[in-house]
Amino acid sequence: MTTTEAPARALDFIREIVEEDLRSGKHQTVVTRFPPEPNGYLHIGHAKSIALNFGVAAEYGGRCNLRFDDTNPEKEEAEYARAIIEDVRWLGYEFAGGEPLHASDYFDQLYEWAEHLVTRGLAYVDSLSAEEMRAYRGTLTEPGKDSPYRTRGVDENLDLLRRMRAGEFPDGAHVLRAKIDMASPNVNLRDPVLYRIRHEDHHRTGGKWCIYPMYDYAHPPSDAIEHVTHSLCTLEFEAHRPLYDWLIENLPVPSRPRQIEFARLNLNYTVMSKRKLLRLVTEGHVRGWDDPRMPTIAGLRRRGYTPASIRNFAERVGVAKRENVIDVGLLEFCVREDLNKTAPRVMGVLRPLRVVIENYPEGQSEELETPNNPEDPSMGTRRVPFSRVVYIERDDFMEEPPKKFFRLAPGREVRLRSAYFVTCTSVVKDDAGNIIELRATYDPATRGGDAPDGRRPKATLHWVDAASAIDCEVRLYDRLFNVEDPEAGGDFLANLNPRSLEVVADAKLEPTVRGAAPLTRYQFERLGYFCVDPDASDARLVFNRTATLKDSWAKVVAAT
Ligand code: ATP
Ligand code: MG
Repeated sequence: MTTTEAPARALDFIREIVEEDLRSGKHQTVVTRFPPEPNGYLHIGHAKSIALNFGVAAEYGGRCNLRFDDTNPEKEEAEYARAIIEDVRWLGYEFAGGEPLHASDYFDQLYEWAEHLVTRGLAYVDSLSAEEMRAYRGTLTEPGKDSPYRTRGVDENLDLLRRMRAGEFPDGAHVLRAKIDMASPNVNLRDPVLYRIRHEDHHRTGGKWCIYPMYDYAHPPSDAIEHVTHSLCTLEFEAHRPLYDWLIENLPVPSRPRQIEFARLNLNYTVMSKRKLLRLVTEGHVRGWDDPRMPTIAGLRRRGYTPASIRNFAERVGVAKRENVIDVGLLEFCVREDLNKTAPRVMGVLRPLRVVIENYPEGQSEELETPNNPEDPSMGTRRVPFSRVVYIERDDFMEEPPKKFFRLAPGREVRLRSAYFVTCTSVVKDDAGNIIELRATYDPATRGGDAPDGRRPKATLHWVDAASAIDCEVRLYDRLFNVEDPEAGGDFLANLNPRSLEVVADAKLEPTVRGAAPLTRYQFERLGYFCVDPDASDARLVFNRTATLKDSWAKVVAAT
């Protein structure tokens, strides 16, 4: 693909750089990578990075690698790695080669290049304790001090490094450091550690290694080995870029990748560090990494978000160099926008109130045709049953309605969507005075929801036929945290919203939804978007509310 086929929208600064590099001939093919550490599930922040890395590669006909940053020997990465692969694919991206790559694939090469640095006098084995090293490093305002081991000769360094690798020393006895500048104003250049001793098996390389490269050492040459052209990362790596460049400069690497930093995504009403998300899971504040209240990709998927809605969100957020906080309302806006177009409508009643239509013949029933999406005739129609008893939403009836309440009330006529006009004739109560059902009449001349005389009730209600209704559980979600910045006070757990989940155990749905597979999405008319939870069984459907219909984003826009 040539650069002229790039999308017409305004280019962000990264796409500008990429286009310029293609135009100038610096690169023929764009290569990016997404480098997650398999120590947790991906979250919506990662989705921004994924959309950027895979998006740029796709737009310019290049490729994007999925590379697991597995420089830490980790025990339980299998589940995380599997989940990351699933999430990237679900978002609609395929990684180059169809297989993930691993930093650990390069351990041999990285080690060989470590010896290369030692041989050139650009790295040395330091034997200070961790505590001493910290003291020697200096501070942001004071330069560091050279370690007494900094002047070791090449042969001694090489011998020590090889013995480190051979397992002759315990953890912490020595480290390999780059020899750069202990007085640099950039602490990342004060002889950063390249290798440390860790007598631990690695899930992929087994017992082969007892020294492991630091992320800062492993990342630049890994990019170079993969011929990554643009190594896109978040702003906190900006101060590491001089080290990135130093390594690319001083190692005999096969290509010269360029690191470019962009602002990470921050979202209000949530936390996004994997460590904090892990606490939510392990301490039981949510049901798992894929709990629909979690900002994880797996949680959003289970909640009913579509891949397109998340990609659109990432695109709207854009790519910039300055950090800001995005309103979670924008994410909700994006899923509503997509589901409004794609989710078929059904009727469901969350808090049912029985209505007995006394002039409808007992034992009779009929099917009424209703559009699957009134705004999109191409989505077709379906037939919903109707008979003598229907359920309406409890909130849609008031015995003594205030002025602006136009829905059902005694003596008042309303339209049942796609069905008939009904008039409430009386209210039946139990001994305690609670309403248990309504009595009503219907006008047979209004079949389909229109009156021949042109009269129009002020309200149209959703309803479900009682005889054929499907009982199901509906889980209504609210924000997991009740403050915009849960981390502000120090203890984010103190800001958990105790009402983030409300379970409605006895909702009634029209029979259209029978047998719907997990993750099937609907709009429940007048209520919101819902999707089938994987907990559903043939015996019992369970729905998650993805989003209400209320457009809180419009309010956000109006307020700003
Ligand atoms: P956490 O801080 O939650 O542990 P991380 O940055 O350590 O996240 P990685 O697995 O290392 O997680 O991230 C993989 C990639 O995703 C990195 O390139 C990182 O810059 C990017 N990334 C992580 N969080 C965000 C975010 N909030 N916005 C944009 N990109 C992000
Ligand atoms: Mg990281």
